[in-house]
Amino acid sequence: MTQAFVGLGSNINEPAYQLRQACMALISLPNTCLIAVSSVYESSPMGPSDQPPFLNACAQIDTTSDPAALLTALLKIETTMGRVRRRHWGERCIDLDLLFFGNTSVQTERLTLPHPGLYQRDFVLKPLADLLGNEYLMPNGVDIGTLLGKCSTHSLRLSAVQLDLGEIPGTPL
Ligand code: ATP
Ligand code: CA
Ligand code: CA
Repeated sequence: MTQAFVGLGSNINEPAYQLRQACMALISLPNTCLIAVSSVYESSPMGPSDQPPFLNACAQIDTTSDPAALLTALLKIETTMGRVRRRHWGERCIDLDLLFFGNTSVQTERLTLPHPGLYQRDFVLKPLADLLGNEYLMPNGVDIGTLLGKCSTHSLRLSAVQLDLGEIPGTPL
């Protein structure tokens, strides 16, 4: 069993609804147990600025899948939820990034672990800090609080929308 973290992001088609749907899909993944979901944050877009703000959160999972199979499953959830890639870092109904997978390093054409943006993005690190605490040492050996202090800001603010896993059918909470 490996502990892994998934970054969720959405900025079109009712982002709060999209994050909830994605959580339900994570709950339904075979060989995988959804352990916790962070608070939800609103952030300014990282890519083109002519798009709506994002809602971001992180999910903690335990899985017996291997990283490649898990990525395939995440990309399938994106497709099933109607994700269309139009432009780099553009608007999307759902983005599911595999942030890290235990201490595993992977460098293939379709999968990089830890995720290349993990240590630089406040909209990923802040939700991770909710789940793990600022003192938690990331796979590169640096604690989340230190990384947060160094990364560029995307005007992160706590969203009025929050995910209550207790309200999502199928959760063990
Ligand atoms: P970014 O990866 O910078 O956050 P993005 O999420 O917009 O950008 P996508 O278009 O969603 O990028 O993904 C492009 C490809 O990235 C995917 O098809 C996938 O094969 C690859 N990829 C590599 N490593 C990862 C990872 N750790 N998690 C998710 N996708 C990954
Ligand atoms: Ca992404
Ligand atoms: Ca992605």
